[in-house]
Amino acid sequence: MKSRRDFLRQVSASTLTLASVAVAAEAATNSPPASKQLRVALVGLGSYAERVATAMKSCTLAKLTGAVTGTPAKADKWAKDFGLNKANIYSYQNFEDLKNNPDIDAVYITLPNSMHHEYVLRAAKMGKHVICEKPMSVSVKQAQEMIAACKAAGVKLYVGYRMHFEPYTRELIRMRQTGELGKIMHVNAYFGFKSGDPNQWRLKKALAGGGALMDVGIYCINAARYATGEEPVWISAEESKTDPVKFKEVDETITWQMGFPSGAIAACATTYNFNNFERLYVVGEKGFVELSPAYGYGPIKGRTHKGEMSWDTSKMHQTWQMDGMANAILNGGPDFNATGEEGLRDMKIIEAIYQSIAANGKKIKLV
Ligand code: NAD
Repeated sequence: MKSRRDFLRQVSASTLTLASVAVAAEAATNSPPASKQLRVALVGLGSYAERVATAMKSCTLAKLTGAVTGTPAKADKWAKDFGLNKANIYSYQNFEDLKNNPDIDAVYITLPNSMHHEYVLRAAKMGKHVICEKPMSVSVKQAQEMIAACKAAGVKLYVGYRMHFEPYTRELIRMRQTGELGKIMHVNAYFGFKSGDPNQWRLKKALAGGGALMDVGIYCINAARYATGEEPVWISAEESKTDPVKFKEVDETITWQMGFPSGAIAACATTYNFNNFERLYVVGEKGFVELSPAYGYGPIKGRTHKGEMSWDTSKMHQTWQMDGMANAILNGGPDFNATGEEGLRDMKIIEAIYQSIAANGKKIKLV
């Protein structure tokens, strides 16, 4: 059982670490006027867009006001389900008309991976802030162009790194930053699942860019970076494929290692071939954090050298994320590094992993 002291310590840590994200939560009973909310249009109304839209119903600083879809039936359904004004629902053909819509401040790209680049560039050109799903792009070059386009247009670019906003991950980062874990020695990160439909876009290179690594391995890359606070200096990787027909175009299972300047090593893995594979274990000289599940929609669970972790799991990650991003854009609040630059760093590592695989596991140096 937790002592009162433990409880107070936790409340106080929670108040400190989540203060900025909680700006939104505190406003729950007192929603700001529409002019003080970030009004967002989702682009590509698939399964993730639906999750984001549902989560945004509980946001206070962000509000869903528009959508872009190629399917007229979806326009009707979304207008009904999410209370959208039909005039704010666009097709891919008249996407640019959104430019002059005063009800939309930002667009959120939830299209297949290889389409992110084109739509981020088009959104930036319209002067709208952009949130783009992970992986940000399918190449380093594309990611650089997306950052440059948003910079030139004077708009913000965020990547849908929802973990950066949810309480367990924030606590892990806080413990690392304050030195509670001591010098970080090792990270073990893995995430994967058994991929279903063999005809889905995720298995087509032209749309997905890559397989498990691009889709969910990216969480492990990102986690190893926020767990150490460092950028890797070398990488080595291996791939294994048990079903070369289904995974003809994209990777199935990859394991890789990353070395950091401090000497810390991350051992990581990702797969499209089996379930129950999701954990982040961070070991420092003074303590540890283990999150498992660590990257899925939750509830995230965890323990540290101090005992079980217990944080707010009542909100969807995307609610934290969208209120957090709105707070960053509207009020200059913290962006928790969920920026285009963060996405670019992950893309550089993804390319290095594929490079190592192509060279039979050769150690690739990163500058
Ligand atoms: P999905 O297949 O459910 O949705 C994709 C949408 O894009 C559909 O509405 C589809 O109609 C539309 N689309 C437009 N052009 C298309 C084309 N040429 N081919 C296929 N679809 C096309 O996929 P999803 O799971 O919603 O994933 C969308 C994006 O969101 C991906 O980049 C994915 O990585 C990301 N995602 C992120 C998370 C997260 O937790 N952050 C979770 C799931 C997906």
